This record gives sequence, structure tokens and C-alpha cells, in this order.
Amino acid sequence: MDVTQTRDNSKIMDYTIPFNKPTLTGDEFAYISMAIKNDLHISGDGTYTRKCHAMLEQMLGVPKVLLTTSCTHALEMSAMLLNVQEGDEVIVPSFTFVSTVNAFVLRGARPVFADVRPDTLNMDETKLEALITPRTKAIVPVHYAGVACEMDAITEIASRHGVAVVEDNAHGLLAKYKGRYTGTFGALATQSFHETKNFTSGEGGALLVNDPALIERAEIIREKGTNRSRFFRGQVDKYTWVDVGSSYLPSDILAAFLFAQLENREAIQAKRALIWNRYHSGLEGWAAEFGVQLPTVPPHCEQAYHMFYILLPSLEVRTRLIAYLKHLGIQAVFHYLPLNTSDMGQSFGYKAGDCPVTEDVSDRLLRLPFYNSMTAEEQLRVIHALHAFRDWH
Ligand SMILES: *Cc1c(COP(=O)(O)O)cnc(C)c1O
Repeated sequence: MDVTQTRDNSKIMDYTIPFNKPTLTGDEFAYISMAIKNDLHISGDGTYTRKCHAMLEQMLGVPKVLLTTSCTHALEMSAMLLNVQEGDEVIVPSFTFVSTVNAFVLRGARPVFADVRPDTLNMDETKLEALITPRTKAIVPVHYAGVACEMDAITEIASRHGVAVVEDNAHGLLAKYKGRYTGTFGALATQSFHETKNFTSGEGGALLVNDPALIERAEIIREKGTNRSRFFRGQVDKYTWVDVGSSYLPSDILAAFLFAQLENREAIQAKRALIWNRYHSGLEGWAAEFGVQLPTVPPHCEQAYHMFYILLPSLEVRTRLIAYLKHLGIQAVFHYLPLNTSDMGQSFGYKAGDCPVTEDVSDRLLRLPFYNSMTAEEQLRVIHALHAFRDWH
């Protein structure tokens, strides 16, 4: 608990509302102790890993799901599975987390940045075709904030040019595009179970393999380049080095934690929907009055309620608002500096002005506190603080 000095100088006992707070569903510890007691198998691919695989496969209708140590690692596996190499190009949005692009750069690819749409902040599908060259190996749409990209257009362009689609679905587990789950459109898709995501195991991820032709090699790459998975299924009598690979299996202790979260997915998503809707209704009139843009969810998209962001009129207003909220004990953060203007982006020859929409929204976006255990009172404090902000000019 810390004491916040309010503007009228009255002291109120208050605590900081964090931007994010991981929330337990209650069963995590029970499952972790069972994972440890159960035949003492705490390394990868134990009972709880298999439970998570089966649950995710059934839930999403995906032929193969493999838990990984992170979404970053699932993206790295995707790059290996597609044989991305020196000279290849990979199209990624300029407004995303670094892992979306780094996974492919690690294999020697050149990133090609697609600017985003000003409404959903997703990869702008109308600018995609112009970025395709004979060297394009993959398109990596990111379903930003758990609102689906325009997958009809993206998959049509990809298949016409014979280019693979890898969905970075870190924000989008359980989101839908025209009634179909995100993560089921690309040959491959990746999930994150990092502490900041809807469902978590602290660190964690998953690779969704939608193209059955990639399943066996995905298992091999994840198991240090060996056919150990086939060995455990009794399909070969010894296992050996058969391909490139690394160690991408999480411990079964982490899978036990994750299973508790996934089992409670409906309650978690209902809670997040409530929080999102409360922000939206509490801020709608305010946003219209002060020229603030709220998130856009197209009618054919069912969102995953991953975050609530606002787009302020300018960088200066955002800077002042962050300081104002901090003074009231509220932690709000921005994210995603444009990849094209980053040091690495510049080393590939990109510069300011290449992705104007990304560069603009990156300056003005603010994410509000959002976590599964957030109370109505905490949320009202945030909404009231925004309404009380006066420093617009
Ligand atoms: C969180 C995130 C990642 C990385 O996830 P990790 O599990 O931390 O590796 C990748 N892409 C996007 C869009 C993310 O938000």
C-alpha cells in the first residue's frame, strides 16, 4: 500500500493499480503437485502437456498442437519448418512485438514491413500484394489485441503466390474471424502463455500445426532434431539425430499450471469481456468529446478481449496523461515502437516514413490496466481518472 497525494491535498489510502497482474484460477497448485507426484515426470511431454495438447486440439479443431517454451520459440520453429533461409523475405506488420520478425531474421530472412490499418491496427491487407516478390517465403499476420486480421484477403493473396501464412496469434486465442478460430488459417500459428496474456504459465507458448505435412518435422525440431517422439510412441526402436532442432518443450510443471488456466477459459474470457465492455461503455462519450479513438472490432470478428487501448490526439497528450495517471496510482503503458525505425529495422535499410500509420499510432496508443482479477472499483478509479484529466492542450 502506498499513499497517494491527491490534487486537493487530501490524503487517501490507496494502492497502485498495476497494468497487469497474473491471476490464479485456484487449481494451479493442485495440478502442479499432481504433475510432480504422477510418476515423477516433470520434464516435457508428461501428463499435463498431453492434456493441454488434447484440450487445445479439440477446442480449436487443429490437427496438432505442441506446447513450447514461448511464442517466440514457436515462431522460431515455424521459420525452421518453412526452411526460411538467407535471401528469403518475410512480410510482417511494422506494429508488432520483436519476436514476430526476429524468429525469421534468425534464419537469415529479410523482413518486409507491412503498414497497419488505422482502425484495427492489423496488417493492412490492401497493401500486401505490392510487397510480394519472388523471394517472399511467408506472410505473418498478427491478430492485434485479439481482433482478427482480414484473413480472406490475406490467405487468398498467399495461396495465389504460393507463400505460407504463419499467424502470430499471441493475443488471439479463442478469437474468431467469420465464425472460425484465429490460429486455424495459416499452415502454422503461434500462441503465447506469457504472464501478460489471457491464459498464462508465466512463460509459455504453443505451435498450432494446421498443415498435416508439417506435423512430424515439427515434433522433431521441438525435440532437439531427434525422432524421440516417434520412439516414445513405439514407432521406432531407438531415437537418433535426424534434422536440425532445439529444445522447445516446457516442463510438465508449467503445463500443469497452464492446464488449470485453460480449463477455466470460459470464466476467464467472460471476466475479460466484462472488463472490456465496462471500459468501452465508461469511455465512449468521453472519447467522442476529446477526440480519443477507442478500439474497432469489425462485425465479422469475435475478439479475444486481450487488451483495452485508447488512441490519444497526440504524443504530448499521451505523455501528460501517463504522468497524471501515475500520480493517481494508475499504471498505463504504451507499446510497440515501429519496427521499421528501430535500430535493427534501420540496419535493413528502413527509415521513418516507411510505415506512416504505424509510426503515428505508436506515438498515440495507451493501454489501460487489464487483468483477470480486476475489480469494478479498480476499473471505476481508472475511468474516473481519465474523465478528470484536463491537460488536453
Ligand atoms: C507476447 C507476444 C509475443 C511473444 O510471446 P512470448 O511467449 O513472450 O515469446 C509474440 N508476438 C506477440 C504479438 C506478442 O504479443
